[in-house]
Amino acid sequence: MHIANRMSRLGTETAFEVLAKARALEAQGKNIIHLEIGEPDFDTPKNIIEAAKNALDKGFTHYGPSAGLLDVREAIAKTVMAERPGFTCTADEVVVTPGGKPIMFFLILSTVDEGDEVIYPNPGFPIYESMINFVGGKAVPLQLKEEKDFRFDINDLKKLITKKTRLLIINSPQNPTGGILTKEDIEEIAKLAIEHDFIVLSDEIYSKIVYDDFKPYSILQIPGMKERTVLLDGFSKTFAMTGWRLGFGVMPAEMAKLVSKLQTNATSCTSSFTQEAGKEALLGDQSAVDAMVKEFKIRRDAIVDGLNKIPGFHCLKPKGSFYVMPNISGTGMTSQKMADFLLNEAGVACLSGTAFGKYGEGFIRFSYANSLENIKEALRRIEEAVKKLPKA
Ligand code: PLP
Repeated sequence: MHIANRMSRLGTETAFEVLAKARALEAQGKNIIHLEIGEPDFDTPKNIIEAAKNALDKGFTHYGPSAGLLDVREAIAKTVMAERPGFTCTADEVVVTPGGKPIMFFLILSTVDEGDEVIYPNPGFPIYESMINFVGGKAVPLQLKEEKDFRFDINDLKKLITKKTRLLIINSPQNPTGGILTKEDIEEIAKLAIEHDFIVLSDEIYSKIVYDDFKPYSILQIPGMKERTVLLDGFSKTFAMTGWRLGFGVMPAEMAKLVSKLQTNATSCTSSFTQEAGKEALLGDQSAVDAMVKEFKIRRDAIVDGLNKIPGFHCLKPKGSFYVMPNISGTGMTSQKMADFLLNEAGVACLSGTAFGKYGEGFIRFSYANSLENIKEALRRIEEAVKKLPKA
């Protein structure tokens, strides 16, 4: 079968490949602790499941509008405004999608012409780079720096902006580092976006998974940014709903029409009963989310403390998401070698930092969306395995 040229530019998410490798080892009888995949290990809260069942009984089994059901978009608009004081929007500015991921794809398709430049965080979620390359854009990596708590240097950003810069992608709290952008960073970014007239895709999918009283600040809260910002958010992480496939974007109404049109072409619409469950997730009892974040914090503290005791490892304590990205350069191993070594020798699945771009070299990523017991056992195994390495 003939394969189109553009397919050679399509990247992937290594997490799914490592998961498959780990499962193959399990099939051979090996015990593996999964710290590779980015999804909460908790069940979806009961009230959300009940809402989906009720919706099925009520007949939410048909096609709906491409942009999403009106009352669901209204609920999203209400929640997004409540969480981002100063920002206002209406249902016309919301598009509901099967997961947050399509917002990335649809926005990049809608805004990036061949040769246009898109600046994106590196290490960062690998699908940004994949999608930019796929549409023929130029992917311009912006390095996140460990010495800046995995923020980027605003001067680095200034140097990367050219006349061809069409879009800047920001992600806070961040995957894979757990880093956050400060209010000052965001204000600087907004100034540059307005001055140089580029669009910002603000991926805030981890904005409710934050610790130590950190209050996320959205670029949408800055006057003059609503016109040039697309917010990506969703239900996968906050409500442990990865398999439901439910997310959304908030963007100027004209862009929402284009993104909805892409959705008409790609998927027609997002599942109707899933959207109804999403409405309950947003408007119903939030105690399960609070409990989940509390538990994630305990695990974060345990994994950071444990990793910092391992010779050659150095790990920052992130303020958000459920990932840590220790620096392993002190072991003398490359990221990929270390990830393979830990899988094969310690039975701990994690990801090489390079799965998130070239600036991920020297780091590996763990997702701590696993039980405290498993995390402690993983740390014990890693420590034992690393002891066997020749001294760096
Ligand atoms: N954005 C970031 C930074 C992510 O880490 C993920 C998932 O891992 C997504 C977006 C997409 O999430 P979903 O499509 O499951 O809503």
